[in-house]
Amino acid sequence: MADTSNWVIQCDNCGKEYDIPKDIPTKIEDMEGTEQLVLKVSPKCPYCYTINSRLAKHMS
Ligand SMILES: [Zn+2]
Repeated sequence: MADTSNWVIQCDNCGKEYDIPKDIPTKIEDMEGTEQLVLKVSPKCPYCYTINSRLAKHMS
């Protein structure tokens, strides 16, 4: 499982950011030379309960 500490999910619906759920396995994929954290299952926003993308957002 990848280190998720520098990654968050940003909700497509309400725009809030939240931590990668600890119960969802993750992996790092190389997307055109950029590392992308991908979740195995789509996460659900804890604020508005929308199902979000499996692609995490890197915090810089
Ligand atoms: Zn939301």
